[in-house]
Amino acid sequence: MEEKPKAFGIDFTKCPNCASKKKLANEVLLKQIEKGNMPKNSRAFLYTHQSIIAGQPGTWLSAPVVISFYDVCVDCGTVYCIHAEIQTAVQGGKNIPKSGNPFSNS
Ligand SMILES: [Zn+2]
Repeated sequence: MEEKPKAFGIDFTKCPNCASKKKLANEVLLKQIEKGNMPKNSRAFLYTHQSIIAGQPGTWLSAPVVISFYDVCVDCGTVYCIHAEIQTAVQGGKNIPKSGNPFSNS
C-alpha cells in the first residue's frame, strides 16, 4: 500500500486572547457526537482559507499552499486559526488541495 506524504500541520488548541479551549463549531460538533449523529473522531471549523505562495501565473509549476482553518472562542468571541497546514499545488490542477475535512486521518 502506497503511503501518502504527511502534510505539515500546526494546531492551535486555545484562544490567543483568553486561553479558553471552547470553540463554537467544536461545541456544536460535540453535542452532535453526544447524540450519536457524528463519529467520535470528527472535528469542526467555521471556515477555511487557502493561499498559494507563488509568483505570477505561468511562472511556476508547483507551489506551496497554506491552508488555514478558523473557529470562534465561545468565551470572548475571538476568531482565530485552530489549524494550519502546507500542501503543494501543481499548475494544471492535478494536485490542487482537495476540499473536505482536513482533519481526517486518512
Ligand atoms: Zn477567548
